Amino acid sequence: MWDVIPQNTVRQKDKFSGLIEEELRINRKDGKARWIYLNALPITFEDQAAAVGTAFDITERKLAAQRAVEIQVERERIRILAEFIQDVSHDLRTPLAIMFSSIHLLQRQLDLDSNVMRRIDVMERQATYLKNLIESLTTMSRLDSKVTYSFQPTNVNRVLLEMQAGIENLANEKDQHVIFDLDMDAPIIRADPNELTRSFSNVLNNAIRYSDPNTNIIVRSTMATSHLIVSVEDEGIGISDRDLPLIFDRFFRVNASRTNADGSGLGLAIAKKIIDMHNGKIEVESSLSEGTTFNIYLPIPDLR
Ligand code: ADP
Repeated sequence: MWDVIPQNTVRQKDKFSGLIEEELRINRKDGKARWIYLNALPITFEDQAAAVGTAFDITERKLAAQRAVEIQVERERIRILAEFIQDVSHDLRTPLAIMFSSIHLLQRQLDLDSNVMRRIDVMERQATYLKNLIESLTTMSRLDSKVTYSFQPTNVNRVLLEMQAGIENLANEKDQHVIFDLDMDAPIIRADPNELTRSFSNVLNNAIRYSDPNTNIIVRSTMATSHLIVSVEDEGIGISDRDLPLIFDRFFRVNASRTNADGSGLGLAIAKKIIDMHNGKIEVESSLSEGTTFNIYLPIPDLR
C-alpha cells in the first residue's frame, strides 16, 4: 500500500457550495511520487458530519505540464546560445579575414626562407581551422533553432548530380576516383535541397579526407520499400568499433593524430541533424583500414 505523505497540498474551498478541492502529492513505499486530485462536499449522513467526493490520479497530467515547462526552458536556452554564437561568429569573421589576407600577402613574397614559409603554412592551417569551426558552429546553432528549413518537392539525384563536379575536383586533388551510381527511377521526395546538399557534402568530404590516394568513393542512390537510400562508400582508414557509436556526437573527433587538423568535429553531427529533420536516419558501417559506408535513409511520401 501507499505510504501517504501529503506534500505540496493545494487547497481551496468554494464559499457557496462548500466544495473542498485538494491536490496532494503522495510518496509511495517504492519511492515513486504520485499526484492525486480530491474533491469533497460536506454532508450530513445519519445525523453525522460526513463528506462525499471523488479522487483522481493526475500524475500524468502533472508530469506533462512539467515536461512542457522543461521544453520551454530548453528552447529558451537554445535561443540564447544561438544568439550568442551568431554574435561571436560575426565578431570573429573580420579579424579572420584580415589574418587570411596577411597570410596570402606573405606567401607571395619570394625571398622567404623555408623555415618562415613553414610557419606561415601553420598559421594558414590554424586560421582555416578557426574559419571552419565558426562556420560549423553557426550552421549548428541555425539548425537547432529549427526555423530555417524550406521543404519542397526534391529530386535527390539532381541534388547529387549538382554536387558531382565539385566533389570530383576535390577527389582528383588526392588522385581519388568518385563513381556515381544513381537509380534514375528514384521518386521525388519532400526535402530541403540546400540542407540535403550540406548533409551529403559533409559525408562526402569526409570520405575524401579520410581516404588515401588511388582509392575509389562510390555514391549510390537506391530504392527500398519506403525509403530512398543514399550511400557513400569509401576505401579509407575506417573507424573502430569503439568509436563508431560516438561519431555523430557534437565535437567528437576520433583521434587528433589521424584526424584532419582543419576538422571541427561537427560535420557528422550537422549531417545527422539535417537527416533527422527530414524524418530520415543515417547509419554507418566501417572496418579499420578497409573503409566506411554511410547510408542515409530518406522517407518516400506515401501517395496511396
Ligand atoms: P571532423 O571535422 O573531425 O571530420 P566529423 O563530425 O565530420 O568531424 O567526423 C567525426 C569523426 O569521424 C572524424 O574525426 C573522423 O575521425 C571520423 N570519420 C568521419 N567520416 C569518416 C570516414 N569516411 N572514414 C573514416 N573516419 C571518418
